[in-house]
Amino acid sequence: MNIVDIINKKRLNKELTYEEIKYFIDGIMSGEIKDYQASSLLMAICINKMTDDEVISLTKCIIESGDVFEFPGINELICDKHSTGGVGDKTTLLILPLCKSSGVKLAKLSGRALGNTGGTIDKLESIKGFNVNLSDQEIYDLVKNEGVCISSQTKNITPADKILYALRDVTGTVSSVHLIAASIMSKKIATSPDVILLDVKVGSGALLTNYEDTLELSRLMIKIGEAFNKKVIVYLTDMDSPLGNNVGNSLEVIEVMNILQNKTYNDLTKLSIEITSELLSASKDISFDEARRTVIDNFENGNAYNAFLKIIKNQGGIIESITTYEEKLTLLSKEEGFITKINASIIGEYCMKLGAGRINKDSIIDHEVGIELKCSIGQYVKKNEPLLFVHTNKDTDITKLYDAFEFGDTSIKKEIIKKKIYSSNSMDSN
Ligand code: URA
Repeated sequence: MNIVDIINKKRLNKELTYEEIKYFIDGIMSGEIKDYQASSLLMAICINKMTDDEVISLTKCIIESGDVFEFPGINELICDKHSTGGVGDKTTLLILPLCKSSGVKLAKLSGRALGNTGGTIDKLESIKGFNVNLSDQEIYDLVKNEGVCISSQTKNITPADKILYALRDVTGTVSSVHLIAASIMSKKIATSPDVILLDVKVGSGALLTNYEDTLELSRLMIKIGEAFNKKVIVYLTDMDSPLGNNVGNSLEVIEVMNILQNKTYNDLTKLSIEITSELLSASKDISFDEARRTVIDNFENGNAYNAFLKIIKNQGGIIESITTYEEKLTLLSKEEGFITKINASIIGEYCMKLGAGRINKDSIIDHEVGIELKCSIGQYVKKNEPLLFVHTNKDTDITKLYDAFEFGDTSIKKEIIKKKIYSSNSMDSN
């Protein structure tokens, strides 16, 4: 076997075998296959796509390139949840306490921010002392004894994905749904959950802006999950406007605390309750309606807030330490009417440049900066009413943010959940 033949085969749109894909992945791991050869194959895949069998083989080979996490001796089903990333997407921070208070076992490995979407690990680092680098044993013990934990990836999980992703990033091959599906699912499956909920974002602030592409990505990820005997649930959710009201690391943790303490409902609350109910339903084999009643009870009776405080304490965090810049710049509305659009991409990009995210992988995060939206989709706003606050200690031109807003004569309702898709083995309880 040689890599040139494999590249030629894919260039001619022929199906690669498991052995050929394995040869490719082993070759990039050993360094025998050079970056230019790997990039050439990635581009051929991007143009000619992959069959479902090829995507499943690629996922398997990426998993086999590294370690696998296991939870021996835990007899309950273990859940995982993944979001393809979005502006103000702090669902994980709400889902963790909702899961803990409702009895769902959740082992969550999260990443850091790159580009205009936030990373959950960065958000948690705005809490002094919070340990985001748990050892394997700490992850195991927390899941076993406390139900949930969250950590960055400490094990050598899917190293081939890191190599492929770095190449894709600089060769225009990130947006291939086949490569995205294998990349996401290999990381999920390597941490051995039984139930995987995938929150696939679509809209201006998402990785994929086109609805048809997100549908195909979802179908592929379900196929992969079924091949590995996982229960997979996909939610296609809106990322045209930011999720919730706050964007920025400390501000997002503060928003989650406010929601849990004041038991307030917004698009973020709704989505987090639905996702947790799916996980509870699938992991305990109860109906979605019964699961939802349990999750809402725990939200409304304060158990979820207490669970949030316990999670922070379990991982060494001091919640009182969280701060955001007191200085606020206010963007006042120049128009009157119903808000019809708050462009997630513009808000996300602005926050990233303010220091909330990373322009490149060496950028240093300022946890205290961010945007607090003072209006939402469908709301009527008068002239000179505040649209948003910008928290920063720097001089910054906030007038660019006017471009994020659109107004209309009639109110519209934001539909946060656009579609739900279930793998064949996760439909029993729904
Ligand atoms: N997220 C991933 O983990 N992989 C991709 O390829 C794209 C988004």
